[in-house]
Amino acid sequence: MSVTQQQVLDSLARVKSPRGVALTHANVLSAISASDGKVFFSINVDAAEARAWESIRAEAEAAVRAIPGVTTVMVALTAERKPGSAPPPPPQPSRGTPGVQPAHAHKPPQGGQSPMARQSEIPGVAAVIAVASGKGGVGKSTTALNLALGLRDLGLKVGLLDADIYGPSVPRLTGLRDKPELNGERKMIPLRRFGLAIMSIGFLVEEETAMIWRGPMVMSAVTQMLRDVEWGKLDVLVVDMPPGTGDAQLTLAQNVPLKGAVIVSTPQDLSLIDARRGLAMFQKVNVPVLGIVENMSYFQCPHCGTKSDIFGHGGARHEAEKLKVPFLGEIPLHMAIRATSDAGNPVVDSEPDGPHAAIYRAIAGQVRDQLKGVIAAA
Ligand code: ADP
Repeated sequence: MSVTQQQVLDSLARVKSPRGVALTHANVLSAISASDGKVFFSINVDAAEARAWESIRAEAEAAVRAIPGVTTVMVALTAERKPGSAPPPPPQPSRGTPGVQPAHAHKPPQGGQSPMARQSEIPGVAAVIAVASGKGGVGKSTTALNLALGLRDLGLKVGLLDADIYGPSVPRLTGLRDKPELNGERKMIPLRRFGLAIMSIGFLVEEETAMIWRGPMVMSAVTQMLRDVEWGKLDVLVVDMPPGTGDAQLTLAQNVPLKGAVIVSTPQDLSLIDARRGLAMFQKVNVPVLGIVENMSYFQCPHCGTKSDIFGHGGARHEAEKLKVPFLGEIPLHMAIRATSDAGNPVVDSEPDGPHAAIYRAIAGQVRDQLKGVIAAA
């Protein structure tokens, strides 16, 4: 049974805002996405009023969940600080209620503050790490998934969170399209494939919807996927970040309790400039950069194995040396990587004895070594 936007609006008309008017007349609702029984929208309020709206957000979510045919509801409460108004309340850890999340201002964070000071850890997860890139299309998601699999091969318990809200590619890379179920505490249960616990915004909303999200909605949705998901016990949770170094990425880098970040770059100069920005972004919020990966480093002919440095291979290694961050490895541009990725069979899993899997495992080994203390402590 399909659910229409009008049905959602009709049910929201019965929810009263803190000012007493119907939610639909309070001028706070974003566009409503309703398809295949999945409903997503946000309530956008002034940060100073955010606390008063939290129970309304929960009420709105319950009202929509009660519509026959609705299978998933995600209602984000987002708060934007108006110039001159009081600062928003600090983020709070979830108390296990799905969808109940604090509002977040989307002002970029001020530099120098530790992310751990602002965000509590995820229970059961020893280390959350980001895989980031200065721009899209450099193979960040492919690297994130294969790195996660490399860590798995080292005997670690690993999760993957696709926070690339603007273009979630984990459903394509893993072949997973199911909707996560809720557990008894109404937390989402991550999907499982390749021995990984996997969560993607792409499991919840259509790609077109994600494209129009603004900064605060991104933060709210990612927070929900971090904290309202039953991750279980993990050594490492790999977060595939949205590409770029804008406000949304900076806010994420600060608000997700990251133990480190891996930056993916191609050897082209432009991409390296972007990677430098990525590096600066993590350094600004005191997240250690675990290293740079050069993806599409050189072209390897699938027939004869000959290597060609079509992009001027080695730029990222040189850049890493200059910036004094570890260089984690070079991944060739190879048909097998593209074909396996795009068919939902990542190369580390589908060709575990091949040369590409070995490269990803070597990168994973360096990442694991840098996180050893954290994982052991947990
Ligand atoms: P991003 O997350 O940076 O946007 P993706 O991981 O989605 O990038 O990769 C973009 C495209 O490039 C995909 O089609 C993917 O299969 C391909 N790709 C990524 N890395 C490689 C590689 N090393 N060799 C060949 N193709 C690759």
